[in-house]
Amino acid sequence: MSDGPGPGTIQTTALIVAAGSGLRLGAGGPKALVEVGGRPLFEWALDACRESSRIGRIVIAVPPGHGREFAVDPERDEVLVDGGAARSQSVAAGLEAVETEFVLVHDAARPLVTADLIDRTIFALEVEPDVDAVISAAPVTDTVKVIDHEGVVASTLDRDTLRSVQTPQVFRTEALRRAIELGDVEQATDDAFLIESAGGRVGVFDGPPTNIKVTVPADLAMAEFLLGRDPENS
Ligand code: C5P
Repeated sequence: MSDGPGPGTIQTTALIVAAGSGLRLGAGGPKALVEVGGRPLFEWALDACRESSRIGRIVIAVPPGHGREFAVDPERDEVLVDGGAARSQSVAAGLEAVETEFVLVHDAARPLVTADLIDRTIFALEVEPDVDAVISAAPVTDTVKVIDHEGVVASTLDRDTLRSVQTPQVFRTEALRRAIELGDVEQATDDAFLIESAGGRVGVFDGPPTNIKVTVPADLAMAEFLLGRDPENS
Protein backbone atom coordinates (compact mmCIF):
# COMPACT_ATOMS: atom_id res chain seq x y z
CA MET A 1 0.00 0.00 0.00
CA SER A 2 1.25 3.48 -0.86
CA ASP A 3 1.96 5.88 2.04
CA GLY A 4 0.84 9.05 0.28
CA PRO A 5 -1.36 10.43 -2.46
CA GLY A 6 0.69 9.41 -5.48
CA PRO A 7 -0.96 8.44 -8.76
CA GLY A 8 -3.89 6.30 -7.59
CA THR A 9 -5.60 3.43 -9.26
CA ILE A 10 -9.18 4.52 -8.56
CA GLN A 11 -10.66 6.95 -11.09
CA THR A 12 -12.26 10.08 -9.67
CA THR A 13 -14.54 12.65 -11.29
CA ALA A 14 -14.79 16.14 -9.78
CA LEU A 15 -18.25 17.63 -9.43
CA ILE A 16 -18.13 21.36 -8.72
CA VAL A 17 -21.48 22.67 -7.50
CA ALA A 18 -21.88 26.23 -8.77
CA ALA A 19 -25.64 26.59 -9.20
CA GLY A 20 -26.35 28.64 -6.05
CA SER A 21 -28.17 31.95 -6.45
CA GLY A 22 -25.86 33.97 -4.20
CA LEU A 23 -28.76 35.82 -2.55
CA ARG A 24 -26.86 36.13 0.76
CA LEU A 25 -23.92 37.68 -1.09
CA GLY A 26 -26.23 40.24 -2.67
CA ALA A 27 -24.22 40.32 -5.91
CA GLY A 28 -27.29 40.49 -8.14
CA GLY A 29 -26.28 37.34 -10.03
CA PRO A 30 -24.91 33.83 -9.55
CA LYS A 31 -22.31 33.66 -6.77
CA ALA A 32 -19.97 31.45 -8.77
CA LEU A 33 -19.51 34.25 -11.33
CA VAL A 34 -18.65 36.99 -8.82
CA GLU A 35 -15.08 38.26 -9.25
CA VAL A 36 -12.59 37.40 -6.54
CA GLY A 37 -8.86 37.91 -6.97
CA GLY A 38 -9.47 39.16 -10.52
CA ARG A 39 -11.41 36.17 -11.85
CA PRO A 40 -14.81 34.48 -11.47
CA LEU A 41 -15.10 32.65 -8.14
CA PHE A 42 -15.63 29.17 -9.65
CA GLU A 43 -12.35 29.32 -11.64
CA TRP A 44 -10.23 28.95 -8.49
CA ALA A 45 -11.81 25.59 -7.68
CA LEU A 46 -11.72 24.57 -11.35
CA ASP A 47 -7.97 25.24 -11.47
CA ALA A 48 -7.33 23.20 -8.31
CA CYS A 49 -9.22 20.26 -9.90
CA ARG A 50 -7.22 20.67 -13.13
CA GLU A 51 -3.95 20.60 -11.15
CA SER A 52 -4.92 17.49 -9.18
CA SER A 53 -3.11 14.31 -10.17
CA ARG A 54 -6.21 12.28 -9.33
CA ILE A 55 -9.06 13.96 -11.20
CA GLY A 56 -10.16 13.00 -14.72
CA ARG A 57 -13.46 14.50 -15.87
CA ILE A 58 -14.66 17.73 -14.25
CA VAL A 59 -18.44 18.31 -14.13
CA ILE A 60 -19.78 21.74 -13.15
CA ALA A 61 -23.41 22.19 -12.06
CA VAL A 62 -24.34 25.70 -13.21
CA PRO A 63 -27.39 27.92 -12.71
CA PRO A 64 -29.84 27.11 -15.54
CA GLY A 65 -29.56 29.74 -18.29
CA HIS A 66 -26.01 30.80 -17.33
CA GLY A 67 -23.98 28.01 -18.97
CA ARG A 68 -22.35 30.31 -21.53
CA GLU A 69 -20.82 32.41 -18.74
CA PHE A 70 -18.81 29.43 -17.45
CA ALA A 71 -15.66 29.20 -19.57
CA VAL A 72 -14.43 25.61 -19.65
CA ASP A 73 -11.58 24.21 -21.74
CA PRO A 74 -12.87 22.36 -24.84
CA GLU A 75 -9.55 20.46 -24.98
CA ARG A 76 -10.25 18.87 -21.60
CA ASP A 77 -13.01 16.54 -20.37
CA GLU A 78 -15.06 19.33 -18.77
CA VAL A 79 -18.84 19.10 -18.74
CA LEU A 80 -21.53 21.62 -17.77
CA VAL A 81 -24.92 20.48 -16.43
CA ASP A 82 -27.89 22.51 -15.22
CA GLY A 83 -28.09 22.51 -11.42
CA GLY A 84 -31.25 22.13 -9.33
CA ALA A 85 -33.17 24.21 -6.79
CA ALA A 86 -31.41 22.66 -3.77
CA ARG A 87 -27.72 21.89 -3.42
CA SER A 88 -28.09 18.10 -3.43
CA GLN A 89 -30.38 18.36 -6.47
CA SER A 90 -27.44 20.02 -8.24
CA VAL A 91 -25.27 17.09 -7.10
CA ALA A 92 -27.89 14.63 -8.38
CA ALA A 93 -27.89 16.37 -11.77
CA GLY A 94 -24.09 16.30 -11.93
CA LEU A 95 -23.96 12.61 -11.04
CA GLU A 96 -25.63 11.83 -14.38
CA ALA A 97 -22.30 12.72 -16.01
CA VAL A 98 -20.17 10.66 -13.58
CA GLU A 99 -18.94 7.22 -14.68
CA THR A 100 -16.08 6.66 -12.21
CA GLU A 101 -15.89 4.68 -8.96
CA PHE A 102 -15.24 7.83 -6.87
CA VAL A 103 -16.76 11.29 -7.16
CA LEU A 104 -15.37 14.37 -5.44
CA VAL A 105 -17.95 17.07 -4.69
CA HIS A 106 -16.66 20.59 -4.16
CA ASP A 107 -18.38 23.95 -3.59
CA ALA A 108 -17.52 26.54 -6.24
CA ALA A 109 -17.84 28.93 -3.28
CA ARG A 110 -14.59 27.57 -1.70
CA PRO A 111 -11.82 29.13 -3.80
CA LEU A 112 -9.02 28.33 -1.32
CA VAL A 113 -9.10 24.59 -2.10
CA THR A 114 -5.79 23.22 -3.41
CA ALA A 115 -4.84 20.26 -5.59
CA ASP A 116 -2.99 18.90 -2.57
CA LEU A 117 -6.13 18.93 -0.38
CA ILE A 118 -8.08 17.26 -3.20
CA ASP A 119 -5.46 14.54 -3.67
CA ARG A 120 -5.14 13.86 0.05
CA THR A 121 -8.91 13.60 0.56
CA ILE A 122 -9.21 11.13 -2.33
CA PHE A 123 -6.29 9.13 -0.94
CA ALA A 124 -7.94 9.02 2.50
CA LEU A 125 -10.99 7.28 0.98
CA GLU A 126 -8.85 4.98 -1.15
CA VAL A 127 -7.08 3.54 1.92
CA GLU A 128 -10.25 3.26 4.06
CA PRO A 129 -12.40 0.44 2.64
CA ASP A 130 -14.90 0.60 5.54
CA VAL A 131 -16.22 4.09 4.82
CA ASP A 132 -18.50 5.37 2.07
CA ALA A 133 -17.09 8.88 2.01
CA VAL A 134 -14.31 11.09 3.36
CA ILE A 135 -14.96 14.76 4.04
CA SER A 136 -12.62 17.65 4.70
CA ALA A 137 -13.36 19.34 8.03
CA ALA A 138 -11.59 21.69 10.44
CA PRO A 139 -11.54 21.68 14.26
CA VAL A 140 -13.93 24.20 15.83
CA THR A 141 -12.27 27.05 17.73
CA ASP A 142 -15.37 28.85 19.04
CA THR A 143 -17.41 27.47 21.93
CA VAL A 144 -20.70 26.19 20.48
CA LYS A 145 -23.94 26.33 22.48
CA VAL A 146 -27.41 24.94 21.80
CA ILE A 147 -30.27 27.39 22.37
CA ASP A 148 -33.91 26.65 23.13
CA HIS A 149 -36.98 28.10 21.38
CA GLU A 150 -36.74 31.27 23.54
CA GLY A 151 -33.15 31.89 22.48
CA VAL A 152 -31.82 30.92 25.93
CA VAL A 153 -28.80 28.62 26.21
CA ALA A 154 -29.83 25.01 26.72
CA SER A 155 -26.39 23.37 26.71
CA THR A 156 -22.73 23.71 25.72
CA LEU A 157 -21.26 21.15 23.34
CA ASP A 158 -17.93 19.42 23.87
CA ARG A 159 -15.69 21.23 21.41
CA ASP A 160 -13.30 18.29 21.03
CA THR A 161 -16.08 16.30 19.35
CA LEU A 162 -17.04 19.06 16.85
CA ARG A 163 -15.81 19.68 13.31
CA SER A 164 -16.66 22.47 10.91
CA VAL A 165 -17.42 20.67 7.68
CA GLN A 166 -16.09 21.81 4.29
CA THR A 167 -15.72 20.42 0.83
CA PRO A 168 -14.04 18.59 -0.86
CA GLN A 169 -16.14 15.54 0.03
CA VAL A 170 -15.18 12.32 -1.75
CA PHE A 171 -17.74 9.52 -2.16
CA ARG A 172 -18.02 6.02 -3.49
CA THR A 173 -20.22 7.05 -6.39
CA GLU A 174 -22.77 4.26 -6.00
CA ALA A 175 -23.18 5.00 -2.26
CA LEU A 176 -23.90 8.66 -3.02
CA ARG A 177 -26.37 7.76 -5.79
CA ARG A 178 -28.27 5.45 -3.40
CA ALA A 179 -28.21 8.00 -0.56
CA ILE A 180 -29.63 10.70 -2.86
CA GLU A 181 -32.41 8.36 -4.03
CA LEU A 182 -33.39 7.56 -0.42
CA GLY A 183 -32.70 10.90 1.24
CA ASP A 184 -34.32 14.27 1.81
CA VAL A 185 -32.29 16.28 -0.71
CA GLU A 186 -34.08 19.53 0.10
CA GLN A 187 -32.87 19.41 3.73
CA ALA A 188 -29.25 18.41 3.10
CA THR A 189 -26.78 21.25 3.65
CA ASP A 190 -23.99 18.89 2.63
CA ASP A 191 -23.99 15.58 0.78
CA ALA A 192 -22.34 13.54 3.55
CA PHE A 193 -25.56 14.12 5.54
CA LEU A 194 -27.37 11.93 3.02
CA ILE A 195 -24.84 9.12 3.50
CA GLU A 196 -25.26 9.41 7.30
CA SER A 197 -29.07 9.36 6.94
CA ALA A 198 -28.83 6.20 4.84
CA GLY A 199 -26.81 4.50 7.61
CA GLY A 200 -23.44 4.87 5.85
CA ARG A 201 -20.05 5.73 7.38
CA VAL A 202 -18.27 9.02 6.73
CA GLY A 203 -14.57 9.51 7.51
CA VAL A 204 -13.07 12.91 8.31
CA PHE A 205 -9.87 14.39 6.92
CA ASP A 206 -8.34 17.42 8.69
CA GLY A 207 -8.82 20.33 6.26
CA PRO A 208 -7.26 23.77 6.73
CA PRO A 209 -9.40 26.45 8.41
CA THR A 210 -8.43 28.75 5.51
CA ASN A 211 -10.65 26.67 3.15
CA ILE A 212 -13.51 29.11 3.73
CA LYS A 213 -16.85 29.32 1.93
CA VAL A 214 -17.83 32.63 0.37
CA THR A 215 -21.38 33.27 1.60
CA VAL A 216 -21.69 36.90 2.73
CA PRO A 217 -19.78 40.03 1.54
CA ALA A 218 -17.23 39.85 4.41
CA ASP A 219 -16.20 36.40 3.14
CA LEU A 220 -15.28 37.93 -0.23
CA ALA A 221 -12.79 40.29 1.43
CA MET A 222 -11.30 37.40 3.45
CA ALA A 223 -11.04 35.20 0.34
CA GLU A 224 -9.28 38.00 -1.59
CA PHE A 225 -6.82 38.38 1.27
CA LEU A 226 -6.13 34.65 1.62
CA LEU A 227 -5.82 34.06 -2.14
CA GLY A 228 -3.30 36.91 -2.31
CA ARG A 229 -1.07 35.42 0.35
CA ASP A 230 -1.35 31.69 -0.35
CA PRO A 231 1.70 30.73 -2.45
CA GLU A 232 -0.26 27.85 -4.07
CA ASN A 233 -2.88 30.29 -5.29
CA SER A 234 -0.88 33.36 -6.21
O1 C5P B 1 -25.64 28.12 -0.51
P1 C5P B 1 -24.28 27.62 -0.16
O2 C5P B 1 -23.26 28.71 -0.07
O3 C5P B 1 -24.24 26.71 1.03
O4 C5P B 1 -23.85 26.73 -1.40
C1 C5P B 1 -22.71 25.91 -1.39
C2 C5P B 1 -22.38 25.52 -2.82
O5 C5P B 1 -23.47 24.79 -3.37
C3 C5P B 1 -22.13 26.73 -3.71
O6 C5P B 1 -20.96 26.52 -4.47
C4 C5P B 1 -23.38 26.81 -4.56
O7 C5P B 1 -23.16 27.31 -5.86
C5 C5P B 1 -23.82 25.35 -4.63
N1 C5P B 1 -25.26 25.20 -4.86
C6 C5P B 1 -25.71 24.57 -6.01
N2 C5P B 1 -27.08 24.46 -6.25
C7 C5P B 1 -27.97 24.96 -5.38
C8 C5P B 1 -27.52 25.62 -4.19
C9 C5P B 1 -26.16 25.71 -3.95
O8 C5P B 1 -24.91 24.12 -6.84
N3 C5P B 1 -29.25 24.87 -5.67
